[in-house]
Amino acid sequence: MQPIPSTKTLHTFKQFATAQGARIYRIPMQAFPNFWVYAYLVFVDGMTVLVDTGSGFGDSNQHLLEGFERVRACEGLDSVMDTLDYILITHGHIDHFGGLPFLLEKTDAKVGIHELDLRNLTNYEERIIITEQRLRAFLLEAGVDADRQEEIIRVYLLNKMLFRSVNVDFTYNAIDMKLGKFEFLHVPGHSAGHVVIRLHDYLFCGDHVLNGISPHQWPERLTLNMGLGHYLDSLEKLNAWADDDITLTLSGHSEPITKLGDRITQIKRIHAQRLERTLAILSKPGTVAEVSSQLFGDVSGYDILLSVEEAGAHVEYLYQRGLLGISNINEIEQGDSPLLYKRLNDPVAEQMRICC
Ligand SMILES: [Zn+2]
Ligand SMILES: [Zn+2]
Repeated sequence: MQPIPSTKTLHTFKQFATAQGARIYRIPMQAFPNFWVYAYLVFVDGMTVLVDTGSGFGDSNQHLLEGFERVRACEGLDSVMDTLDYILITHGHIDHFGGLPFLLEKTDAKVGIHELDLRNLTNYEERIIITEQRLRAFLLEAGVDADRQEEIIRVYLLNKMLFRSVNVDFTYNAIDMKLGKFEFLHVPGHSAGHVVIRLHDYLFCGDHVLNGISPHQWPERLTLNMGLGHYLDSLEKLNAWADDDITLTLSGHSEPITKLGDRITQIKRIHAQRLERTLAILSKPGTVAEVSSQLFGDVSGYDILLSVEEAGAHVEYLYQRGLLGISNINEIEQGDSPLLYKRLNDPVAEQMRICC
């Protein structure tokens, strides 16, 4: 998830139809204060499918019910809840799956998610503890000062204590990445098990591609199969998979994307520029926290975590590829010190083309 400046008026209920006649309703929900997310309710070939659920926090469930009521009236149904067959989760972030405990009390719909995000739903409490440990180690290594570390962990735990584990009915690889006319493409990066879902000439892309903002990046140091390298590879994968027949790409937070290829190119360019800036900053030794404040300025609250993670993902990408080294390795050997990264100017590593 990530903050998107928004007002309620921007986030509206909307109806779409695919070229082959599937009906899609976009339901806006306030996932967290000033942070909106969309679920999509789809009617195709006698199947009723919900893509994502909102956060379950605050008014999110109520907004989902209001959306269902509008759809019920449009479709002339007795109840949406009773006709729901499947709930497909695009990825294991709470703003997309947090409504599941509420929904599963009211519907027998089968829940699906990709294998690599399964435990986010089924072993939630365990994952919080593991992620907290990894986050603490990362923040220490990144050179975030002690007070800010505690503030970040406090905010992280507040957000994450809002859910309890639920049962999932199937995973996408296990059904050969197909369900009826829905097809799934695994696009790791923003989360380990993120998928883009295709239905006819429409895509549901969750947070993999957004309009107006580049989707948030975490270092793979926190969770395997996340990280900028995986993310950029996944953008290429989507570019190849989504052919010219795609009319519209529906995302988790932004308005529909009409020219997906152009949007992918723009996002790649943003990361290329950010990587170049990171290299320039690290012509002198610096920590991830220092890179973060130079890239994103002085931020507060949850944005501290988001900006340090984003900077960490870019530093990690360059370090993995031999463009950065660690300049205080003797101190590191002695004990807990932040890592000081520095550009290596290695002619072999520099042959890598960052530019997209
Ligand atoms: Zn999201
Ligand atoms: Zn997300």
